[in-house]
Amino acid sequence: MTNPSLLILPGDGIGPEVMAEVRKIIDWFGTRRGIVFDVTEDLVGGCAYDAHGTPLHDDTMARAQAVDAVLLGAVGGPKYDDLPFAVKPERGLLRLRKEMDLYANLRPAQCFDALADFSSLKKDVVAGLDIMIVRELTSGVYFGEPRGIFTEGNERVGINTQRYTESEIARVARSAFELARRRSNRVCSMEKANVMESGVLWRQVVQEVHDKEYPDVALSHMYADAGAMQLTRWPKQFDVIVTDNLFGDLLSDLAAMLTGSLGMLPSASLGAPMANGRPKALYEPVHGSAPDIAGQGKANPIACILSFAMALRYSFDLGDEAARVERAVETVLAQGLRTADLMGPAGGTPVGTAAMGDAIVAALDASL
Ligand code: NAD
Repeated sequence: MTNPSLLILPGDGIGPEVMAEVRKIIDWFGTRRGIVFDVTEDLVGGCAYDAHGTPLHDDTMARAQAVDAVLLGAVGGPKYDDLPFAVKPERGLLRLRKEMDLYANLRPAQCFDALADFSSLKKDVVAGLDIMIVRELTSGVYFGEPRGIFTEGNERVGINTQRYTESEIARVARSAFELARRRSNRVCSMEKANVMESGVLWRQVVQEVHDKEYPDVALSHMYADAGAMQLTRWPKQFDVIVTDNLFGDLLSDLAAMLTGSLGMLPSASLGAPMANGRPKALYEPVHGSAPDIAGQGKANPIACILSFAMALRYSFDLGDEAARVERAVETVLAQGLRTADLMGPAGGTPVGTAAMGDAIVAALDASL
């Protein structure tokens, strides 16, 4: 049996700092659990531009296509702000997403008890929250044609087109139903079928995929605006939410912020199954390269560590080990350890990036 393979792309700013802590966890799995990953590391973003004049070298792209999963830190920074659009650091990330055809973006919103006070909502509304938003990532209004700013008569018109094919809706619906089966078996699909034809088709196709392939999963439908209200009123009513690119962009940010800091939020982008049955996959924290704190050892590594936990669960079928990492994170938070971004009025023990990583490794040790 070959070892599972992982391409690590730390990127820019705090990316390498938080990724160094993930490397500790990867090493821990090798030495303490006998789970050895074949890890290769490469450049993406500004650092790739510095080295190669492009934010993603073709060799790196080919490597990303060949591995079981890609784990990315963050890209960008003020040094690169004035670069031409085609070589901006973010283009490297967009190329990865596009060429790997990662159509399902998974954004969990999970509230750790120790951080429940961090939410802008009341503690009982968010404590124990654990929902997953599945956002369609490669189609919809951000990509549809025609698009542009045109002149009609004597004024300008801005046009974007919401367009979805049946197969685009069906494949992301399948991702959501598959996920639900690993969780509590419920999917809520959100669109605006009351005012948009693309929403009518979305609702029909999700229902058809459900009836034919996933009748065991409980499916409900909700208008996306009502969904936004319900997410802030009583988010725990949801398990998996599946929605289009635009609504998913908004709803996943809304749901994520129910739980507190940007430094805590992981994500996964999944594509079609490869020959080995695993989906093409890119895992990354939601946050950016945080140039304001880069190089100071202050960054919270938990979002990146939880992204690796998602890789364990969704790319490597190691759900129990993913839960072990999540419990280790919960343990250090319950012990009161806090990076600067988590330091609220309730205080805590201030720690830096490396100390947070070490504490999570110690909690993993204690879990054995
Ligand atoms: P950002 O997420 O980098 O930072 C926003 C704020 O959150 C900053 O105050 C930062 O210090 C803080 N923060 C973010 N992550 C943190 C962590 N792990 N621990 C502690 N604090 C954290 O967003 P920004 O400032 O808008 O963007 C900075 C750069 O990152 C830009 O170049 C932007 O283009 C890029 N960016 C990249 C990605 C990505 O790589 N996926 C995403 C967003 C922004």
